[in-house]
Amino acid sequence: MKINENYSNLEESYLFSTIAKKVNEYSEKNPDKKIIRLGIGDVSLPLCKAVINALHSAVDEMGVKETFRGYGPEQGYEFLRESIRDYYLTHNVKLDTKEIFVSDGAKSDLGNILELFDNSTVALMPDPIYPAYVDANLMGGRPVLFMDANKENNFLPLPNKNVKADLIYICSPNNPTGAVYNREQLKQWVDYANSINALIIFDAAYEVFISDENLPKSIYEIEGARNCAIEICSFSKTAGFTGTRCGYTIIPNDIINGRLNRMWVRRQTTKYNGVPYIVQRAAQAVFTPEGFSEIQENIRYYRENAEIMAKTFDDLGIWYTGGKHSPYIWLECPNGQKSWEFFDYLLNNLQIVGTPGSGFGKNGEGYLRITSFGNRENTIEAMERLREANKILHV
Ligand SMILES: *Cc1c(COP(=O)(O)O)cnc(C)c1O
Repeated sequence: MKINENYSNLEESYLFSTIAKKVNEYSEKNPDKKIIRLGIGDVSLPLCKAVINALHSAVDEMGVKETFRGYGPEQGYEFLRESIRDYYLTHNVKLDTKEIFVSDGAKSDLGNILELFDNSTVALMPDPIYPAYVDANLMGGRPVLFMDANKENNFLPLPNKNVKADLIYICSPNNPTGAVYNREQLKQWVDYANSINALIIFDAAYEVFISDENLPKSIYEIEGARNCAIEICSFSKTAGFTGTRCGYTIIPNDIINGRLNRMWVRRQTTKYNGVPYIVQRAAQAVFTPEGFSEIQENIRYYRENAEIMAKTFDDLGIWYTGGKHSPYIWLECPNGQKSWEFFDYLLNNLQIVGTPGSGFGKNGEGYLRITSFGNRENTIEAMERLREANKILHV
């Protein structure tokens, strides 16, 4: 056998292992110090009541002959696809349930979808970036082009007519920068994709954090997107499903006369047997009035954490993006420090852990990502430590 040599082109990711190593070393040497972790990209609030109730009753159904379920439809149960369709209607997006594919999460679909495209397909994505987009392309030997996201463009790059690509990755609200595209900006991307016959892969994992009705939650709120965009979303950040696993992908019938949609049906029916019935009932509960209001409460909690952090950075004169419509705040390291320098300063002096921006691409150098997924008390305490340190530095 011959192995896939493309795997040797992957860069080893030392980001999270290096963070863990540094934090462990510090806490071994300083067992009395309380470390506050604001680096995590995982939720911390538990599943909401409506979801738990749905899980319990689905479990009971599975134990009764009359209501037991075996293999389900590979695309997902109609009840969940209808709930997703109805949710999109609330932001004026009309979908057919046949355009919605339920999956075990966004990450799997982001990787698997590449099977539908030729190996020569060129992907274009911003730098800094969610690392999985890059690696999924490199594993298949597909070339990747980067576009600069930086302070000059507020970390929201727009199309450059001189750059041609086949797949365009857009994540809005963005991980790691928290930046969000407005309608006019997304329209530029849609028009551009249509003009060069490219496909947009729109990652909407953080759409529920958008609190301004004028900002688009779905790429399909933009005219022309049904011809050139697929949308991948997840219950992970929306409803705390990071460990429960459920997401969905939308492939409109308007892309190559429905051909891409039919190919995905074929792919899923061949290689996938769907998400557990129990989990799909849990996901459906997110869209009930009780479920929706309960998850909004959780989002509000994270949002208030973000507000507390943003206020601190405003007061201290630290430049940042995100926070308002995203659980991420992307801040410029003070005094021109490099990402790892500032990381070390925060860990060693204030016992605060962030994520060095340089781990997300070259344009991330000099930035740090912190998240609002922590608990309230720790978030407040971390910000107080920053304010104190700032006072001392300024006397
Ligand atoms: C967390 C996250 C997802 C969700 O992934 P799941 O596999 O559904 O848990 C997708 N995209 C981005 C950018 C994320 O940060």
